[in-house]
Amino acid sequence: MSTPQTEANKDGAATGLALATGSGLVAIGDIGRFKPIKPGKIHLKCRRCKNTRSNMARADFDPVNAVVMVMNYCPRCDRGGEFESVEYYDAAGREITED
Ligand SMILES: [Zn+2]
Repeated sequence: MSTPQTEANKDGAATGLALATGSGLVAIGDIGRFKPIKPGKIHLKCRRCKNTRSNMARADFDPVNAVVMVMNYCPRCDRGGEFESVEYYDAAGREITED
């Protein structure tokens, strides 16, 4: 009677795979937790303020297997004048490099 039933199991060890968590968020590598990705969307993370946003509109030039886009700053913490570098990561949190 003292065992509350929750959907939350212990957080799995980081396996590098996307893990569904009890909160409904999905861990993507070490990058962070996001809502489940929707078709045609991409998650954003800001390297500077750690702000994350799930399921934002993709751009045409985003790699097709990219699930997370990490920016060096976002509009929220933009101080202006800096080059915006962007890195893409797949669902396993691996960086996508194009060559
Ligand atoms: Zn930011």
